[in-house]
Amino acid sequence: MPRTFGEVARPGSGSARSAVLVSLRDRGPATRAELARRTGLAPPTITAAVRRLLEAGVVLDAGPSQREVGRAGPPGTRVALDGDLAWVLGAEVGFRTLRVVVCDATGQVRGQGLERLGRDHSADDGLPVLRGLAARVLDQAGGSAGRVVSAGVAVRGPVSSARQQVSQSGELAGWSGLTAQDVAEVLGVPVRLENDANVAALGEHVFGAARGVDTSLTVKLHSGIGAGLIVHSRLFTGARGGAGEIGHTPVDPRGPLCRCGKRGCLDTVAAVPALLDAARPRYGDISVSELLRRVEAGDAGATRLVQDAASAVGDVVANACLLFAPELVVLTGALSRAGRVVLEPVERALLREALPDSDMRPRVVLGELEERGTPLGAAALALMQSGWLPRS
Ligand SMILES: [Zn+2]
Repeated sequence: MPRTFGEVARPGSGSARSAVLVSLRDRGPATRAELARRTGLAPPTITAAVRRLLEAGVVLDAGPSQREVGRAGPPGTRVALDGDLAWVLGAEVGFRTLRVVVCDATGQVRGQGLERLGRDHSADDGLPVLRGLAARVLDQAGGSAGRVVSAGVAVRGPVSSARQQVSQSGELAGWSGLTAQDVAEVLGVPVRLENDANVAALGEHVFGAARGVDTSLTVKLHSGIGAGLIVHSRLFTGARGGAGEIGHTPVDPRGPLCRCGKRGCLDTVAAVPALLDAARPRYGDISVSELLRRVEAGDAGATRLVQDAASAVGDVVANACLLFAPELVVLTGALSRAGRVVLEPVERALLREALPDSDMRPRVVLGELEERGTPLGAAALALMQSGWLPRS
């Protein structure tokens, strides 16, 4: 049974070991002297912590370092975190695609893959595909199933955190009611289920545009509009899950019926299906990629559609920002590929609706991870779940 980050670095009993592990994971291999400088801990404390970690087999001897310029004495020996001790799977179940990434214990991506899923697929259709794709990606990465300690799986729509179950009001009707245990039985490892926008927020926080930011809001502009909240470096899912479901904020009381049963939710005016419906009279049946190509080419109608959607999202995001005042708003998902065409209306909405004190107004940026953000976030969730990534 592989040891976990938590087992070797329990707070209180081994805070120096924890500091060494975090430093090796985030900043790479180092000598004991470098670790002392990085962590601010005394050299004898570092030496003792590294000895314990070497004995436990969690860190490895990584060979001599380059002699540091201006420093006397022989070069030290570097140590590194052994990423091969544990691997995790991150998966995203979409409308038509299934994506999987494999990461090692240090968060390095070791492999990734994608499979197509049929229209209106169910969990019974998708789970065998997930198992097959995970095995193929692991094989191509040179690993085996035995090395995987945990998996994170992102699904569209709300997930009950307590029950670890996909909600009935999710976008993937064929997956509603599915539990983490159902997926665990297929993959053979413990599984954590989470909503895709929450997971995208975790991905940007751990690997992308929100790295090092204490409190951020990531908004996924996709087949639905969802947001993920990172509060003091932790994913905030609400008391029982469902936090950040901003796509169901009412924006037009006379608007179209939403799949949730309400009228005029943000999703009905700004999510991808609503945009494609609105585009139909002028452009016929086009895909989101075709719509975005028209935006890129400067087509006035396509640009207006995306700008208006972003503006509606911006008003809702501004309200969310008044509530919990993040430092940063990150825009991800298919529509974020329109770049400044979505960024600027959101910035304008924040200027219009947020408090005038510019010190408290969040910056708005595009996500850095593109379509890898959600599966990477799912892998981060698995690393946290299995103790290889601190939860805060
Ligand atoms: Zn709704």
